[in-house]
Amino acid sequence: MKTKKGIGVSPGVAISPVVVIDTEEFDIPERHVPVDRARSELERLKQALKRSQLEIKDLQRRTIERIGQETAKIFDFHIGLLSDKILLDKLSDLIIGGNVTAEYAVATVLRGYAKDFLSMPEYLAERVKDVYDIEKRLLRNLTGQRRQSLSHLERDVIVLAHDLTPSQTASMDRKHVLGLAIDAGGQTSHTAIVAKALGIPAVVGLNDLTGEVSGGDIVIIDGSHGLVVINPDDETIERYRKFAQQQIEFVHSLDSLRDLPAITSDGHEIKLMGNIEFPEEASSVLEKGGDGIGLYRTEFLYLGADEEPNEQKHFEAYRSVIEQCGNLPVAIRTLDLGADKYTQSRARTPERNPFLGCRSIRFCLQNLPMFKTQLRAILRATVGSQASLMFPLITNMLELKQAKAIVRDVAEDLEEEGIEYRNDVPIGMMVETPAACLQCDAFAKEVDYFSVGTNDLVQYTLAVDRSNEKVASLFTPAHPAVLKLMREILRCGQRHNVPVSVCGEMAGDPTYTLLLLGLGLRSFSATPPAIPEIKKIIRSVTMEQAVRVARRAMDFDFDKEVIYYLRMETRKILPEAFAD
Ligand code: PEP
Ligand code: MG
Repeated sequence: MKTKKGIGVSPGVAISPVVVIDTEEFDIPERHVPVDRARSELERLKQALKRSQLEIKDLQRRTIERIGQETAKIFDFHIGLLSDKILLDKLSDLIIGGNVTAEYAVATVLRGYAKDFLSMPEYLAERVKDVYDIEKRLLRNLTGQRRQSLSHLERDVIVLAHDLTPSQTASMDRKHVLGLAIDAGGQTSHTAIVAKALGIPAVVGLNDLTGEVSGGDIVIIDGSHGLVVINPDDETIERYRKFAQQQIEFVHSLDSLRDLPAITSDGHEIKLMGNIEFPEEASSVLEKGGDGIGLYRTEFLYLGADEEPNEQKHFEAYRSVIEQCGNLPVAIRTLDLGADKYTQSRARTPERNPFLGCRSIRFCLQNLPMFKTQLRAILRATVGSQASLMFPLITNMLELKQAKAIVRDVAEDLEEEGIEYRNDVPIGMMVETPAACLQCDAFAKEVDYFSVGTNDLVQYTLAVDRSNEKVASLFTPAHPAVLKLMREILRCGQRHNVPVSVCGEMAGDPTYTLLLLGLGLRSFSATPPAIPEIKKIIRSVTMEQAVRVARRAMDFDFDKEVIYYLRMETRKILPEAFAD
């Protein structure tokens, strides 16, 4: 039995055999084989090497015919490596000496090669892509076409992967994926956000767990404490079963809050809404007692889709959410593609710093036909509703003015075409950068509301990539600089009478509920499973208490002090909060 610590991003417990998935969704089966099977593994490997060489030679021949001799030379490296005696020796030593499967040997040895290439001068480091290519080809030839489609599983599993894209996570078979353990990622990576929204216990930032676990091993995912237990003993399994039961009971104990308002014990009404990625999630927001949708991440329409959604597809998705929500508000965020979502995997030349690159509103302003398609659908779908639209990642005034001008253009087009649309849809903007926050007085005159995206605000304020596990411990909304920006935007909203909502993960973390209330926040939007607990805290506190806590929290210099203090104060009001 071995326990690994990562970052718990979606609470709950799962106990199950694992399926280990590589980046291409190949299932890497168990590591060890009985001594007498090692020879047949070596034989399988030799067959796979031969098949891979034949494939590459065929590819090279076709390239010569179509493009020419020179270009076809790019395959020489592949052929050379696949027939390299040193590679074969390394692989057979591992298979025979270590009694491991051929797949495991290939993954281990070629990852080692990739690492070596990466440390070489730039022109050689480029070779790393070829090494990955060769690895994939060999694995494909070893496993046949045994790709694990995470969307069609036949048994209950915990998925263990080096990394998963948000779309892979979103398309997972929710019935059979009981838990997720991922080497990469941080607290607010989009993969983590999707896992949380789906209620799948998940731990990310485990670094090298995929190297330590074999397909079929039993593991426990403890998403509440960020732990993964590999091959647990009976006593540990029993302990976790009890813990899981307590958690289920705790969740049910909050069911009675569903139809009660989010109102402080001294009568201040708070709007408590939910974040969604897919139209189907709207029902879980309502089931959890949410007051509407404070963030609809519409870019998920693109993720996992084989082709770009057309206007009708957009329209149907928005209409579905609006109809499910009746008279409740729905904030439809325009496409936030880019960074870890969609564009990089399709780009011929991926950006060097995609989170600082052409993402979000910047991407939309450079892809006007796509943006206009979405805006047409939004203006049509919002007729007669309480829905609004909001722009993500607005950083300068020109972007906001341009985006609003495009909305006007689209409205004119619809008018001319005689198509029914809403011509006074409220327009909000997300505050996700220090720049937007510091220029909020000017922006306040241009928008109907602000919605603070704390995931990006923390990332850009603290210079910490939200999806990089190596710096995950530095990512925290409790940093005094972030708190000052939050206070500033809330004060700005009051100065200009512009409503402010918070829809980043901070709004769904019970640690920060008192602080946000005390700073003046009256509108939260959280991941649906978090709604009841946040409501419980709101209903347990007076505004005076919250203001006092917020004032004191602003005095600390260290984020850890802030967190410790906030949790202690929350426990005074609600002793069961943060229970282990
Ligand atoms: C945020 O950045 O806080 C936010 C809500 O947007 P997303 O997580 O989709 O980037
Ligand atoms: Mg964001």
